[in-house]
Amino acid sequence: MHTAPGHGPDDFIIGKVYNLGVVSPLDGRGIFTKEGGIFEGQRYDKANPLVVEHLKEKQALLGHSTFNHSYQHCWRCKKPLIFRATEQWFASVEGFRKRALECIDTVEWLPNSGRNRIFNMVENRSDWCISRQRAWGVPIPVFYCKGCSEPLMSDQSIERVAAVFDKEGSDSWWEREPSYFLQGLSCKCGSTDFIRETDIMDVWFDSGVTHAAVLDERPELGGTPCELYLEGSDQHRGWFQSSLLTSVAVSDRAPYKTVLTHGFVVDESGRKMSKSVGNVVEPDEVIKQYGADVLRLWVASVNYTDDIPIGKNMLVQLADVYRRLRNTARFLLGNLSDFDPAVDKVDKSKLSSLDRFVLHRLNEVVGEVTRDFDRFEFFKYYQLLQNFCGVDLSAFYFDIVKDRLYTSHPKDEARRAVQTVLCEVLHTLVRLLAPVTPHLAEDIWQHLSEPIKQSFGNQSSVLLTDYPVVDASLEDKEAAAYWSDLMAVRLTVNKALEQARAARAIGSSLEATVMMSFEDKEKAAKIKKVEKDLATVFITSGAQVSDNGLPKDGAEVISTVSEDGLTVAAYKASGDKCARCWKYTGDVGSKTGGDNQFGDLCGFCADVVARL
Ligand SMILES: [Zn+2]
Ligand SMILES: [Zn+2]
Ligand SMILES: [Zn+2]
Repeated sequence: MHTAPGHGPDDFIIGKVYNLGVVSPLDGRGIFTKEGGIFEGQRYDKANPLVVEHLKEKQALLGHSTFNHSYQHCWRCKKPLIFRATEQWFASVEGFRKRALECIDTVEWLPNSGRNRIFNMVENRSDWCISRQRAWGVPIPVFYCKGCSEPLMSDQSIERVAAVFDKEGSDSWWEREPSYFLQGLSCKCGSTDFIRETDIMDVWFDSGVTHAAVLDERPELGGTPCELYLEGSDQHRGWFQSSLLTSVAVSDRAPYKTVLTHGFVVDESGRKMSKSVGNVVEPDEVIKQYGADVLRLWVASVNYTDDIPIGKNMLVQLADVYRRLRNTARFLLGNLSDFDPAVDKVDKSKLSSLDRFVLHRLNEVVGEVTRDFDRFEFFKYYQLLQNFCGVDLSAFYFDIVKDRLYTSHPKDEARRAVQTVLCEVLHTLVRLLAPVTPHLAEDIWQHLSEPIKQSFGNQSSVLLTDYPVVDASLEDKEAAAYWSDLMAVRLTVNKALEQARAARAIGSSLEATVMMSFEDKEKAAKIKKVEKDLATVFITSGAQVSDNGLPKDGAEVISTVSEDGLTVAAYKASGDKCARCWKYTGDVGSKTGGDNQFGDLCGFCADVVARL
């Protein structure tokens, strides 16, 4: 076996251990130099068999055979490479490694695993080779004496170079003569004749000093340490580390407070995107087809700590979520068209328990969303908002209050109370939407009625409003506990109604009444207290809590569902259908007025219509 300390990192290390000396007899074109002795001037591949022959002649060859093994190749042209030991500039890390490791723990790493990643890399890294052999880049500010070849790099020389770079830029390095920078500075040997270094800085050094070049130079940006560095998870080796090392070396601290890493975008089945595979999703195309908001919503919806899939199916789903957010806003705007907060707003103390529950939830969402944003957990924001709009509002509150909105007298306090809640929800929601779906938020803002816009502060754009903050006065834990229970009950009731509908026993849920029986008597008593409001909550024509089970096999039972200690039976509603509110009641036609004009209306509707 042979070893060549001048031609490979492992050989170099072995050579150092055994003091072999670093012989590197090939030049940049693969031709043997003077160091190559009798092979000088020959190309390495032509010389290889001759070297074997020569060793044989000298009887210095113990054995010789060929075998296949892996070998380094150029990533670009795929040709084999030869390592050569060359002179390079290094930044010694040893002097501040300990401090750099300490500084790592002053930083918040998101996700947490980033801390160990960079810690291990810095702990085990070798000195930083900062020189590169390229035609152009940021120069390494070193001069060499023409007389004795000594390098010149002193505080003085560097300051003079910096002064020129300040005025003329770093390209002056190549345009100006060394004497222009050095202005009479001389070598230890007395010579003032110098040549410039032609190596350039590692580009990681360039990007690694942005904390100094960008932030320290512009105090209006907030200075260092910077709030957040944000990049892909490959940068613990790259930018995060080069920034840390330069900052610790110069300023004795990390250049950032928080470092966030994310995975890479892959296709829906987790494959890397590639033009040849044809699975690339172009952001421009997504924006053209779905709009920028849907693309932004996708960014917010993914857990970016891993690789991030995107594809057609996901986008279709996101567009659907977006459409539902839009519909929520449309419902709010539509039902506030006759509402002037300055005149019609109902005092909080007069709101129903259900109304207060929705404001409580709204306030909870503001708190949670704010926390999620602070922790960069945008996917939680997305889930929260989707849930709040889909489950709490559309499927629950809106569903229940439609009756109050559409059948009450427009000026009735119960209706104004709902509108007060809707207005509050709209004001908060539009500002919660703005960071992720600004176009939707602005669209909503531009459709606010004048009185509502005025009550919101009258800004010309939603982007000029303040972000919502938690309002402790909206908290109502009692209402929250009660309505969370009732939401669960309602799900079971809805199942019974759905069954009845599927069996074609009813069309609308208003054609049914429901009877509930709870195993838990305490719960039964609690729900029974508001029995008179339950039909409104379930959107049925009647609802009762039974104290002693359900009537067995009653002829009129159209469906039953039992789950979680609750049995719900649905019945065909008795009475007649009111032509206005579609509820089945016993008092349709009871208030006919003088000329039988309300003959097909229930008592409630007749009263309302009489006042219109
Ligand atoms: Zn190549
Ligand atoms: Zn000299
Ligand atoms: Zn009616």
